[in-house]
Amino acid sequence: MSLLSVIVPCYNEEAAIPFFYDAIEKIRGQFAEKHPDVDFEYIFIDDGSKDDTLAVIKRFREKDKRVRFVSFSRNFGKEAALYAGFSKAAGDYVVCMDADLQDPPELMIEMYEAIVNEGYDSAATRRVTRKGEPKIRSFFARMFYRLMNRISDIEFVDGARDYRIMSRKMVDAILELGENNRFTKGIYSWVGFRTKWIEFENVERIAGETKWSFFGLLRYSFEAILGFSTAPLSFVITLGFIVTFMAFALIIFVVIKTLLYGDPTSGWPSMICIIVFFAGTQLLCTGIVGAYLGKTYLETKNRPIFITKEEE
Ligand code: UDP
Ligand code: MG
Repeated sequence: MSLLSVIVPCYNEEAAIPFFYDAIEKIRGQFAEKHPDVDFEYIFIDDGSKDDTLAVIKRFREKDKRVRFVSFSRNFGKEAALYAGFSKAAGDYVVCMDADLQDPPELMIEMYEAIVNEGYDSAATRRVTRKGEPKIRSFFARMFYRLMNRISDIEFVDGARDYRIMSRKMVDAILELGENNRFTKGIYSWVGFRTKWIEFENVERIAGETKWSFFGLLRYSFEAILGFSTAPLSFVITLGFIVTFMAFALIIFVVIKTLLYGDPTSGWPSMICIIVFFAGTQLLCTGIVGAYLGKTYLETKNRPIFITKEEE
């Protein structure tokens, strides 16, 4: 017998969980017909929900011992929830999927077979369409992936979901990355292993609403950049060089001009332009360096990634 752990991060998902449970149980039935040697466990992570998510999970736990859960002391974010799930999972294979059925459970059989029959370590999914999503959001998402692939060494796949199945080896590798600033999509790539990509059309969430605001996503993309690229620091150095070179050229120009034509007290507007320009670039650069320093500061505190209030 082998065990498959399904990790489900939940933040205010009381409305979606019953639908999710029904859907996944149906798949478990189909799964058992094809692969009778696989059993399931469900690990729900209640990420500090403010609604009755935990009560709903406990209700399922009472009638089905396959259901296990971790409840956080507060909202630590999906990345922390995934980490908690990985550390609790006992399975030989681990799948993570959202509670809102935006990750089609019926793909699970194909994903599992990619590992056992085709020799992959992992099978991941990506949405090929973003229909049902605001246009502006899709646009920025696409720009973000293009940028990330340029400025970082690892691969970022456009439309990639966190929905993925992994072998025990890969999960153990992920658990070794105990950083606080977790951008799981980057971590999946960083640990390596052979991944099969499975494509599907976007599905809208079954109940409840998305936790992502536009600014939430923007912050998330900064996390990704700070966590997986030092390109902004190189940018600062390059900019520093260019600006210094320009300053030298300007100094030589001013000195020669003064020697040749004297020094009438004009030139106030250009002076202001220069001051403002340099003040701006200096602030920008200090800010970028500061952002990395801040992350370093938070990492050195070595705080736990999540705090458990209750688990079963
Ligand atoms: N989630 C979480 N903690 C959070 C935010 C979200 O565990 O702080 C969970 C949420 O319950 C869902 C999954 O992460 O199962 C994806 O969230 P959502 O559907 O809001 O994101 P979207 O699909 O819109 O990108
Ligand atoms: Mg969703």
